[in-house]
Amino acid sequence: VLCSCGRSDNKLVMVAEATFPPYEFREGDRIVGIDVDIMTEVAREIGKELVVEDMSFDSVISAVQSGKADVAASGITVTEDRKRQIDFSVPYVEARQVIIVPGNSAIKGRDDLKGKRIGVQHGTTGDAYVTKNIQEPERFPNGALAVAALNAGKIDVIVIDGEPAKIFADRHKNLLILPEPLTVEEYAIAIRKGNTELLEQVNRVIRQLKENGGMAAIRAKYIK
Ligand code: GLN
Repeated sequence: VLCSCGRSDNKLVMVAEATFPPYEFREGDRIVGIDVDIMTEVAREIGKELVVEDMSFDSVISAVQSGKADVAASGITVTEDRKRQIDFSVPYVEARQVIIVPGNSAIKGRDDLKGKRIGVQHGTTGDAYVTKNIQEPERFPNGALAVAALNAGKIDVIVIDGEPAKIFADRHKNLLILPEPLTVEEYAIAIRKGNTELLEQVNRVIRQLKENGGMAAIRAKYIK
């Protein structure tokens, strides 16, 4: 369901940056993916209609803080900084930051990154990692635009989450993912501080999906 309507009580509003496959991406004019399926399950459990709104990744947390959205489900990594702004559900998957290079690149790992043109998605943990540990990166609004810049030779590498990276590399056969990950992280759903009722509902559904095989089935639907 795609809608730019505001809050109303029979709706559960989720925000995401919808160019992050397999977690959220467009299929025709619908937004689909692992996060959408998890939140569809939550909405069903609590008898509400799920509404998905697309926005830039660096706005999803403030949309939850301000009450514009009930949840942000956008492949969001749990970090201490973000925990100060919103509450996180229990994590639903482990993730990694990886390096994507053109197949003919001389860059073989993290030690080769210094001085290279490094593309990241603005406001992500990949952005934070590169900024803190290597140098100022080139920031793109989303992964697809970073991939276009890499293919055009405007940057040398991309640092991004591993599962979207795998899908981008499948689409662009000239691209390679380096085997050694830069970080190990966990994704969780962001909920406004104080909304403990919704937090508990989301946690209950995530735990159920992990126990009854639902999570594995959702992942299998999007990860080939
Ligand atoms: N997992 C990364 C983060 O939380 C990137 C998420 C995304 O781009 N949707 O910063």
